Amino acid sequence: MPPTPADALQDDAAFRRRRQVVLDSWQRSRIAGFLYVFGWVVVAWIGDVFALAPAWGVAGAVVFLVAAILRLRLPPPAAEDRPGHDRWLLRYGAALTLAPLLWATAQTWLLLDPRFGADAVMVSVIATIGYATVIANVYTTMPRTAAIGAFVLFAPMLAALWLQPAYRALAVACTLYAVYLGGALPRSAREYRRRLDLDAALHEQRDRYERLSRTDPLTALANRREFGVRLAEATRMSGDAGFALLILDVDHFKRINDEHGHAVGDACLRALAQRLRAAFAGDGGLVARLGGEEFGVLLPCDGAQAKAHAEAFRAALAATRLDCEGRAVAVTVSIGVCGFVPEHHRDGDGLYRAVDRALYAAKSAGRDRVAAGDG
Ligand code: GH3
Ligand code: MG
Ligand code: MG
Repeated sequence: MPPTPADALQDDAAFRRRRQVVLDSWQRSRIAGFLYVFGWVVVAWIGDVFALAPAWGVAGAVVFLVAAILRLRLPPPAAEDRPGHDRWLLRYGAALTLAPLLWATAQTWLLLDPRFGADAVMVSVIATIGYATVIANVYTTMPRTAAIGAFVLFAPMLAALWLQPAYRALAVACTLYAVYLGGALPRSAREYRRRLDLDAALHEQRDRYERLSRTDPLTALANRREFGVRLAEATRMSGDAGFALLILDVDHFKRINDEHGHAVGDACLRALAQRLRAAFAGDGGLVARLGGEEFGVLLPCDGAQAKAHAEAFRAALAATRLDCEGRAVAVTVSIGVCGFVPEHHRDGDGLYRAVDRALYAAKSAGRDRVAAGDG
């Protein structure tokens, strides 16, 4: 099945969400890799690593620095690169997991190597708890990565602590904290999802209001406000390609209302709107309801072509009846039409006045006819 506009809207909403996740992830975590560099320098300094194993101490600092820089070198893709966002999340997720993995390795070494004393153990355990807390609370934009990161940080440390009876109290405390984190992580992920849902709902509502503010509720055509904007735009952009304006007014519409009632009158306006849309809305044309029983059309062609289109429409309408709530109603229109001549009309208002005068002339000349404006 070919994609529908609704599918496209849903795709847009899904992408907007994905992009938000990408930008939030980047903004929250891009410089956090340097926390590990700082943590390692402190742990290595307090735990005498630089004295006991200087090469490893320096190597650790360099490795954490490289991991932190690698993270910084993975900025999000451009907004236009939609498929790039999924790839980025995978790649960045892997880069985010690198630092916890390295940290867990270093920490396990500190815990198992008898050369390092209680100071090194204590400081590194506190740092690990801090990193895991950051992961659980901040990286909630990517809950799976956060869960993997927290697990990678905690699991080796807990195993190493439980293996050594001297650290039993620390092992118990850290296990309790791991249980707490296990609950906190999904909770903060849910909160983030709720924020995304709220953002999406606000966005959708704003789009809907924006659409409504441009649409005529009876016929779903563009309304007068939107027509004014598009007319001004067309006059600004009319370089070599000209455009023309048509204004149509239903003849003796009051009689239709009086004879058939207001509801049938409304149905006539909807049916006429449908006819106008079918006749003019393709190929870059714009059809709008300007108010009451008056419609405007912008056509990307010159005045003579527009007049021929208008005449064809008028004749076809006069030759048939409109189906208005089951009643076949004879409807005719008077049409004013004119191509835009920048030197003559100057702007959209000038063109509008010329076409309005032509419409008035068509009415005065007996209705059910097309009159061309000056220009
Ligand atoms: P003519 O344009 O040929 O001079 O005659 P007319 O009867 O169409 O003239 P006029 O513009 O004075 O009347 C327009 C009528 O359209 C008046 C109003 O009751 C009716 N009308 C305006 N808006 C609506 C609407 O939304 N629904 C219905 N049913 N009638 C509407
Ligand atoms: Mg009328
Ligand atoms: Mg009118």
